[in-house]
Amino acid sequence: MLPTRYDLTPDALGELLADQPAYRARQVWEGLHQRLLAPDEMTDLPTALRQRLTQELPTALTERDRTIADDGQTTKWLFELDGGAQVETVLMAYPDRVTACVSSQAGCAMGCTFCATGQAGFTRQLTTGEIVEQVAVAARAALPRRLSRIVFMGMGEPMANYDRVWAAIRRLHGDMGFSARHLTVSTVGLVPGIKKMTDEDLPVNLAVSLHAANDTLRNELVPINKRYPLAVLAEACRHYVDTSGRRLSFEWALIDGVNDRPSDAAELAEFARPLRAHVNLIPLNPTPGYLVRGTPPEGVRGFRNQLTRLGINATVRVTRGSEIAAACGQLAAPQTAPVRLRTRVSGPASSSDS
Ligand code: SAH
Ligand code: SF4
Repeated sequence: MLPTRYDLTPDALGELLADQPAYRARQVWEGLHQRLLAPDEMTDLPTALRQRLTQELPTALTERDRTIADDGQTTKWLFELDGGAQVETVLMAYPDRVTACVSSQAGCAMGCTFCATGQAGFTRQLTTGEIVEQVAVAARAALPRRLSRIVFMGMGEPMANYDRVWAAIRRLHGDMGFSARHLTVSTVGLVPGIKKMTDEDLPVNLAVSLHAANDTLRNELVPINKRYPLAVLAEACRHYVDTSGRRLSFEWALIDGVNDRPSDAAELAEFARPLRAHVNLIPLNPTPGYLVRGTPPEGVRGFRNQLTRLGINATVRVTRGSEIAAACGQLAAPQTAPVRLRTRVSGPASSSDS
């Protein structure tokens, strides 16, 4: 099979263009990564070469659906990958920034009870090119605005696909010009991944999806907590903060009556304070497999105020795309194509920004 256009390395592109003048490989590489062009749009190439590259550099992502919400400010794509797996990508425009939320895996094996992706199970890892191409599509759709932030908060657990995700990050940074500080990796708390990221030279932001600060509740909500319990997670976070000097944030999906009580805020504050972590509160978005609702707005405010009183910096995330199931935790692309075994989430779902 031919490598897809963003799975190609510079060396492989050089080989593909061995019969061309030496500058061509760089021209095509920049066309793909900086100008976000398809080969047939690279009008500075000879026509015959454009046609050849269209054949030889296929796309990895086939758009199966695109939905728009929030008055055109949120776009969600459903892409089909080679082999039939499907993933979703979300673009969110705000007055001061434009954020893309990208998937790192088709499905997810972590099984968090409240997450639509977790409920659907794992299908396969995404390749580096499949991740980079999501960004290229989103960045193009954002024009004339510049895509300013990229969050790995779509489908999948980025730390469970570490090497490909990190190769994609290098490409986004080195070839597409995104500042590392505008990239955020969100993890359910896979400690080996946090340790690896601690030692990386690019200062990418780390967000840890905490949701509970006692092991009993976290084991229930986030089953991987049994493997990496809170004490172990805290140690990895401590090392990350001390070594990298970067800011850490915790994600907390507020679930009515489950993790939004004053005692939960107190436990969270105890956990976050020594790490000087910022807390992002997201009222739980509904998913088909988890019937508890998100905390109502007054409860969210109360929880935030309590954290503030306890000295913790906390922001409430504005939910985007909930009417198109593009919100956090609502991404549940059907995993079998062309026969869809699962129906798409049609109720509210969401993607939000960090
Ligand atoms: N696997 C990674 C990244 C993808 S999930 C992780 O878990 O961090 C992105 C974020 O959405 C995580 O913070 C996750 O906990 C949150 N999330 C999952 N389901 C949600 C839901 N139903 N409502 C709100 N947030 C949810
Ligand atoms: Fe996977 Fe993240 Fe969903 Fe958990 S919250 S199932 S880790 S995508």
